[in-house]
Amino acid sequence: MKPTLVLVGRPNVGKSTLFNRLTRTRDALVADMPGLTRDRHYGHGKLGDRPYLVVDTGGFEPLAKDGILHEMARQTEQAVAEADAIVFMVDGRAGITPQDKEIAKKLRRNPRPVVVAVNKAEGMERGVAAAEFHTLGLGEPLAISAAHGDGVRALLEQALAHF
Ligand code: GDP
Ligand code: MG
Repeated sequence: MKPTLVLVGRPNVGKSTLFNRLTRTRDALVADMPGLTRDRHYGHGKLGDRPYLVVDTGGFEPLAKDGILHEMARQTEQAVAEADAIVFMVDGRAGITPQDKEIAKKLRRNPRPVVVAVNKAEGMERGVAAAEFHTLGLGEPLAISAAHGDGVRALLEQALAHF
């Protein structure tokens, strides 16, 4: 059975950009405006000859009655429930935000493997980009650039290591 990798993270960290790279499609909507992806997107990818399914999350309705934090939490929970492994994306340029901490709290309580992907790290020293994200309590963060492809293979290898 194909393992399912789920991409979670607050809006605008680069989930859809990574989804497109992992699936080599333009299915996910990428934009400068946070929150444009309306719903979950599913795509197929391969690492060598190993197939996987990847899920992009982040359909944050800007006017959601209960607010973006609630919606983010709900979507994260839903996505995590169908995951074999979770890629938790954060923004290496922005640093840790309160939304990252909220998501991390949920992920620490889940039994599935989580890889922290510190995105937008192109041009940054990798160890420096990743360092502060250790405090999320989800293991060794990996610096990547979804836009340029740096570190994406290593990320996939780690996420698929259990399957
Ligand atoms: P999502 O809301 O998490 O799905 O984020 P998107 O994939 O829509 O990306 C949000 C913004 O970040 C867009 O302007 C992307 O071009 C930009 N972005 C995504 N990946 C990278 C990256 O690796 N480096 C940089 N510098 N920008 C990126
Ligand atoms: Mg998106």
